[in-house]
Amino acid sequence: MKQLTIISGKGGTGKTTITAAFAHLSKNAILADSDVDAADLHLILEPEIKQQKEYSGGSAAFIDEQKCIQCGICVEKCRFEAIKDFVVDPISCEGCTFCTYVCPENAIVMREKISGNWFVSSTREGIMVHAKLGIAEDNSGKLVSVVRHHAKDIGEKNKNNLVIIDGPPGIGCPVIASITGADMILVVTEPTLSGLHDMERVLDTAKHFSIPAMVCVNKYDINSENTKKIEKKCAVRKVPVVGHLPYDKAVIAAMIRKKSVAEYDCGEVTKNVKKMWDKVTRALWE
Ligand code: SF4
Ligand code: SF4
Repeated sequence: MKQLTIISGKGGTGKTTITAAFAHLSKNAILADSDVDAADLHLILEPEIKQQKEYSGGSAAFIDEQKCIQCGICVEKCRFEAIKDFVVDPISCEGCTFCTYVCPENAIVMREKISGNWFVSSTREGIMVHAKLGIAEDNSGKLVSVVRHHAKDIGEKNKNNLVIIDGPPGIGCPVIASITGADMILVVTEPTLSGLHDMERVLDTAKHFSIPAMVCVNKYDINSENTKKIEKKCAVRKVPVVGHLPYDKAVIAAMIRKKSVAEYDCGEVTKNVKKMWDKVTRALWE
């Protein structure tokens, strides 16, 4: 089973639009939404949740009030100021465990912290594994790994031949978690200088992990000079530019109707996304 991660240097470049279109064009894929901080693939695919599990990304301190003598040592020593009125605020607690060592009464224990949920859902394009990180929680890289692990596991059992992963934006820990072990990444960029810069950073990350990459220039016609710059940079890096999608308001019309651009006729965008899908699948299986 192959794994394809669709990624961009920042949000709002059309990454999810392309993921949803690929989900429609694939005949035997499982979907993994790795954008656990701001997932939006569900807005197009309208998943019906079949299974929901809690995710623990770490632990937080807990004070046993029966044992606590309110000496105040832990309040003073916690450098994250997570203890107020002898109660630990689990959002502020960084789980460093220091307070458990300084408490003279052994009144503090570490407890697993529920940091979010992950889901297995059915969509009109097949099964989707996705997640939601709790408010003010971090460790989204670990949750991305959880989503990917379960998508792969379910996909193997269902004899899917591809996992399509909608990656998070940026180049941080969640991005690394979404691309490691992938067979290919598709970087979606826009013809702006920041788009060019972000694309280069993502390509550097992919190169570091020896993951083959391809590029799609979304809205390529809004600045042909910058599109040329992107093409030149990709040529130097020997990274194929497999798709050029024009700017078209029909893409927004499709999203409003909760359709992917492969389902809703967006003219050249729809044609080009189909061509790009052919190129990507050929590269994956060649
Ligand atoms: S575990 Fe660390 S951060 Fe949490 S309350 Fe104790 S000292 Fe503070
Ligand atoms: S150090 Fe222990 S006994 Fe002292 S206030 Fe904190 S929890 Fe209570």
